[in-house]
Amino acid sequence: MASKRIDPLKRFWKKVRIDPETGCWIWTGSLSGNGYGSLNLGRGLYIKAHRFAYETFVGQIAEGLELAHSCDVKQCCNPAHLRATTHAENIQEAWDRNLCPRKRRKFIGSENAERIVELLRDTDQTYYEIADAFGIGYLTVVHINSGFHWADAHPEIPRPIRNSYRRQTASTAM
Ligand SMILES: [Zn+2]
Repeated sequence: MASKRIDPLKRFWKKVRIDPETGCWIWTGSLSGNGYGSLNLGRGLYIKAHRFAYETFVGQIAEGLELAHSCDVKQCCNPAHLRATTHAENIQEAWDRNLCPRKRRKFIGSENAERIVELLRDTDQTYYEIADAFGIGYLTVVHINSGFHWADAHPEIPRPIRNSYRRQTASTAM
């Protein structure tokens, strides 16, 4: 029953080329119809590459918000060039209402992580179904599936958002 293990982060880095001049992380893999990078997460699930990068390195994108590129490069996945925003000018209001993506990060304990691993191994439940059951974002489930750990994953790649990186490492170590 076990489905093939896919490490989306490894796949992600394979398809990213960092532009040394602009700092843009240029997606070299396949593109979606509207010109954004498209990453295969397994289990029939695809995600826009820049959204994957943002949710992985910064945090969940709050409902109703979308990502804007400060560099105007659609294929860029550098989270430092992305910010969660609304169409209108109510960005500040969104922050005031606690929609800031970082505040919605939820830490799951090791027991829950083990249970999720069992579900991934022994059932055909989708990432979404498992995420719903535990009240977490589906990308967290994706990363649990791949055995992704922040501390030892590709340390040679620059991580622009140091604070969230450290926080994750600290909570994992507890
Ligand atoms: Zn960029």
